[in-house]
Amino acid sequence: MISIPDAEPGHVYLVGAGPGDPALLTLRAAHLIKTADVILPDDLVSEEVLALASPTANIIPVGKRCGQPRITQAEIHELMFDHARHDYSVVRLKSGDPLVFGRAGEEISFLREHNIPFEIVSGITAAFAVAASLQATLTDRTRASKLILATAHHAAGKVALSPSWAGAFPEDATLVIYMPGRDFEALAADLIASGIAPGTPATAVSSASTVNEQIHVATLETLQSENVGHAPVILLIGPSIDDEAVRKAALRRAMISAISG
Ligand code: SAH
Repeated sequence: MISIPDAEPGHVYLVGAGPGDPALLTLRAAHLIKTADVILPDDLVSEEVLALASPTANIIPVGKRCGQPRITQAEIHELMFDHARHDYSVVRLKSGDPLVFGRAGEEISFLREHNIPFEIVSGITAAFAVAASLQATLTDRTRASKLILATAHHAAGKVALSPSWAGAFPEDATLVIYMPGRDFEALAADLIASGIAPGTPATAVSSASTVNEQIHVATLETLQSENVGHAPVILLIGPSIDDEAVRKAALRRAMISAISG
């Protein structure tokens, strides 16, 4: 039997909620969610994961898209601080892994500055979950020796990698783009201009691991915004993504949703 300590009063836990399926939480994450007094979840954290919380837990959604006026990062800091100072245990729950595009850096600095004891608990990041569901490897002995996790920024009418990529992209890399925006043609043009071959495989997966999951298997030059489902979307690009398994996975998913829909 593994003994896992409960969430401690006055502590903050930055916890990765993984891609959505509670079975993919770490044991530590699941136990903290069950025993925390206060839970501050991002909007991408699934209902199934939140259902693990104690019935007495105070769940305060702090997602940026939860239909409320936008909550600021400073307000999130304040919520962590106030509850920890009143000796509640606080789980700050982030989708995927808390250290991947989750603004954890700011929260860590804040907690350190205010001497609030905290712990970080890893989760399965979207890139890994999506690759698993596509049965595609992110690294490959012959085709991809590097894995790059990137995000795109969307300045007035332009989509580009952020910070912008200087020089040519390595050919033997898998590039995963979080928060790619909605203009996939512009993003692809930007990547082609940075030196990635236009025929490089590119697969966009939206709402991975939910009933709305949609997979668009393409290449950089055939990517089409209209074929990509609703947010959240992640883009996997590189030679190791284009194998039969990806197409089969896409087909299998389409059949499952046709049957269930
Ligand atoms: N910390 C998270 C990332 C947060 S940024 C992690 O490690 O996964 C949010 C971005 O993650 C989304 O814009 C999207 O690019 C990606 N993402 C998260 N969940 C996703 C899902 N279910 N399907 C597709 N992309 C997802």
